[in-house]
Amino acid sequence: MTRRIAILGSTGSIGRQTLEVVDQSGDALQVVALAAGGNWSLLFEQVKKYRPAVVAMMDPIAAEQLQAALQAASIMVEVHTGQDGLIAVATAPTADMVVTAVSGAIGLMPTMAAINSGKTIALANKETLVAAGQLVMAAAKEKNVAILPVDSEHSAIYQCLQGQDCRDLRLILTASGGPFRDFSLEELVQVSPEQALRHPNWAMGAKITIDSASLMNKALEVIEAHWLFDVSFDAIEVLIHPQSVIHSMIELRDGAVLAQLGIPDMRLPIQYALSYPERWTASWPRLRFSDHPNLTFRAPDHERFPCLALAIEAGRAGGTAPVVMNAANEVAVHAFLAHQIGFMDIPRIVRETIQAHAWQASPNLDGILASDQWARENAAMRVAGGREFSG
Ligand code: NDP
Ligand code: MG
Repeated sequence: MTRRIAILGSTGSIGRQTLEVVDQSGDALQVVALAAGGNWSLLFEQVKKYRPAVVAMMDPIAAEQLQAALQAASIMVEVHTGQDGLIAVATAPTADMVVTAVSGAIGLMPTMAAINSGKTIALANKETLVAAGQLVMAAAKEKNVAILPVDSEHSAIYQCLQGQDCRDLRLILTASGGPFRDFSLEELVQVSPEQALRHPNWAMGAKITIDSASLMNKALEVIEAHWLFDVSFDAIEVLIHPQSVIHSMIELRDGAVLAQLGIPDMRLPIQYALSYPERWTASWPRLRFSDHPNLTFRAPDHERFPCLALAIEAGRAGGTAPVVMNAANEVAVHAFLAHQIGFMDIPRIVRETIQAHAWQASPNLDGILASDQWARENAAMRVAGGREFSG
């Protein structure tokens, strides 16, 4: 049976690779709705090829340009804009499944809307679970909606978990360590966005590449794993594994450790989420063990990579702490990419913003959104150089 999918963030790294998986799937997958931020010319090409019924561009000017191009080409499709546009795509009546591949907490409301309309979620957008894991998982449970991981570590864990006794489960999340894993603290203060964007093993969007360099990405993944697999923070370990061959591992109650291995290629975890519980054949390159004579492992260095412990701590604190941490990080990463702050200002801005905020234990969705907005403004003022802000 054909699975009909909507993609939020179709012009990005995960979005484009999702479309490659669609191309290879024969008629197992059909694209029915697409959304992106501002890249209207690529979305136009995608609409021409996949003919979805509904599309959205977050940016209203880009939406107008897309609309004009579609009219000139005599292509009839509903074009929506803004957050409501993303929600229209996430709830497209003909979609069975939504791939959430936008970058950042902007994915939260569309993901919630998709869950509430009963769509299966293929989740790449980890910031959604970081910001509002409790509410998202509760909504998915209430609506009996599956959230299938796309993130490679979580896909690895999910694959290992099939058919297992999950009591006393421990998770071992592997991390490449990023491009700066062997840099000194003094060197880290000096690194440029251009250096940070050169990831040794994975080609990804800019935001997650910077998060990988700071190890913030791994902390976001610990929080993501906590919610997806209902495992306590104490039972999740982060392990530096520079070769990125083992995508993550589980330890079962008898001490057995199961791992999922492969080449670093996101198409496999994307396809697994889209084909689950089936596995489909694929023609991408295979792992050759003889290419990897040395698989190595070590504990992360918290002094040089303070984002890791800082963000996991926010995850443990729960309530509004993780949404504030995530929003401050998004602001700081964009400021770093724009050469406004240094690399080691990222953890400083995140820490200061968390410390300044008035923590609430059990925010509802409005409370989460208000904390997100407050944190963005507070972090932006810290980027601009201010200090005296409180929640
Ligand atoms: P990219 O930056 O490559 O793509 C982001 C996508 O989101 C683009 O389609 C972009 O549209 C769209 N977008 C950005 N901002 C907005 C906005 N405000 N409103 C609507 N759409 C927006 O990111 P990635 O594909 O790398 O990452 C996407 C998500 O997947 C992230 O949450 C990331 O953490 C996660 N992920 C990514 C992995 C990877 O290998 N890339 C691996 C595991 C997880 P446009 O280009 O048109 O502006
Ligand atoms: Mg990952």
